[in-house]
Amino acid sequence: MDSVDELQPPDRLLMGPGPSETHPRVLRAFGTPPIGHLDPAFVEVMDETQDLLRETLRTDNEWTIPVSGTGSAAMEAAVGNLLEPGETMLVPGNGYFGGRMAEMARRAGGEAVTIETPWGEPLDPEDVRAACAEHDPDVVGVVHAETSTGVRQPSMPAITEAAHDHDAFVLADCVTSLGGIEFRMDEWGVDAAYSAGQKCLSCPPGASPLSISDGAMEKVLDREDPVRSWYLDLSLLEGYWGEERSYHHTAPVNNIYALREALRLIHEEGLVARWERHRRFSGALREGLWALGLEPVVAPSARLPSLTTARLPGGLAPGAVVETMREEHDVEIATGLGAFADEAVRIGCMGHGARRGPVLETLGALGETLS
Ligand code: PLP
Repeated sequence: MDSVDELQPPDRLLMGPGPSETHPRVLRAFGTPPIGHLDPAFVEVMDETQDLLRETLRTDNEWTIPVSGTGSAAMEAAVGNLLEPGETMLVPGNGYFGGRMAEMARRAGGEAVTIETPWGEPLDPEDVRAACAEHDPDVVGVVHAETSTGVRQPSMPAITEAAHDHDAFVLADCVTSLGGIEFRMDEWGVDAAYSAGQKCLSCPPGASPLSISDGAMEKVLDREDPVRSWYLDLSLLEGYWGEERSYHHTAPVNNIYALREALRLIHEEGLVARWERHRRFSGALREGLWALGLEPVVAPSARLPSLTTARLPGGLAPGAVVETMREEHDVEIATGLGAFADEAVRIGCMGHGARRGPVLETLGALGETLS
């Protein structure tokens, strides 16, 4: 084999659906030499990371950890632990990630029932209520921020109320919302929530937030069938992240360093101020997009600040625009997904990217690309 050059990836501005721009302090933390995953000094880092996660999720849940792996690992941990074989899970049909939830529910031995809602629209809590009455689910899944469509689910408390009236647990995907838009786990009655590092937390992917209420964890610990995944079985992970701090698997030490620093940045900025910053800069990004002739896909009340889905002017092909942005301007945006693949682009405004410089650079590059 010929020699391979030292790694030198291109210098891109990441304004797609994730990964987002990483804060330099987070990169520095990521590059810190690792210590042992059972070293008392690392146990302190674990404690601090858990506390910061609770603050960011707005929860007091004891059971709040970074799962080793990307957002899908945290998603699979949530679905696979909470849903037992033979049980039913309601999943949203209004985007790509609801479909992934359904697939995971089936692989966990459960039945998935889809609440049919058009792509580009949020769930109606009344539809959730009706579906609960019809299917008597054990778990109701909600995607708080659907990255495939740019839809924010605005009525979380009404959905959790509908689910709880039927004794179902609510599992929320907040991969593209945590740290970018309002999410209040305890106040909204969410029983399990998961996220990922590489969106509004502006962290490299690899350690993903997961939080489970005491009630939901009781169900997990009372399971008759062991969780099908050994790696993601929360009753085993309890040994490492709970009181004991005993070995289960080798934690991705550097990912946890990075996540801790990303959460520390949120603590310094203030969560509410950070939500407001995302609102402000995504608003500016959108005004620029509309001025360039792009058109929104999602109605204003359900638009997700961290991700905008927009149709291009003059029937331009999204793939060609995305390629020109990347190859000629070093700016990453993405095409639509699923139902919107051929007609829209997706532009992120997340974490360290939700600032004046990245927004103006993206609009400038897009203006040149479209001219
Ligand atoms: N859920 C949503 C809403 C997402 O946007 C993503 C990733 O983009 C995932 C889950 C899966 O996360 P990951 O790609 O980090 O595994």
